[in-house]
Amino acid sequence: MTPPATPGDDTRGLPAAPEVVQIEVGLLQNFCEILFCPTTREAAIVDPAWEVDRLLREADARGLRVTTALVTHTHEDHVEGVEELVRKTGAAVVVSPREAAHAGAPAGARLVDATDGRDVAIGRRGVRVLDTPGHTVGGTSYLADGFLVTGDVLFVGGCGRTDFPGGDTGALWHSLQRLAALPEETRVYPGHDYGPTPTSTIGHELRTNPYLRCASFEAFRKLREARNG
Ligand SMILES: [Zn+2]
Repeated sequence: MTPPATPGDDTRGLPAAPEVVQIEVGLLQNFCEILFCPTTREAAIVDPAWEVDRLLREADARGLRVTTALVTHTHEDHVEGVEELVRKTGAAVVVSPREAAHAGAPAGARLVDATDGRDVAIGRRGVRVLDTPGHTVGGTSYLADGFLVTGDVLFVGGCGRTDFPGGDTGALWHSLQRLAALPEETRVYPGHDYGPTPTSTIGHELRTNPYLRCASFEAFRKLREARNG
């Protein structure tokens, strides 16, 4: 008999994890990831921006066919290459409806709603959508079996600011609590190279990230809002 689902357990029944390649692009230390199925060679690119041609060369070099763009949020530094990627590959765009409503949908793109709990196939592998607002109104993280792509929700040693339009410190607190409950060995791929290392783990962040070490929302709010701006 299967035990009942634990409330808040986002890892149950996760699809097999894609392979991941992390690539830093542009002038703002943005990270993109290429996630791919080693069997079918289908690939998704997280937050295509700045250097779409280079991202496509990296995909080509591995014999990959890009079918999907995964958007964490619609700040320009994360999505300014989406339309170019769609034009060059016909990729479908996975984006939170709240983000698309806020920023406008990319021209010509086939949109897939990034709704919480949805599994997005990448060949025979896949990732799960986690709704993680707070830095933006519909911020999305993508959970795979063993790793997590966090956009600007969680950085190595930090977290996203909450003073841009759509930002909400309370929502970010709840989102971070949810990510903090993932297995400690879960590898974290953030949206920017702002920390001492390009990736981390949930366990390491729980021990060292001042925002995850806050014991209460009030402590978190004070720390976050003191560093906004
Ligand atoms: Zn952002």
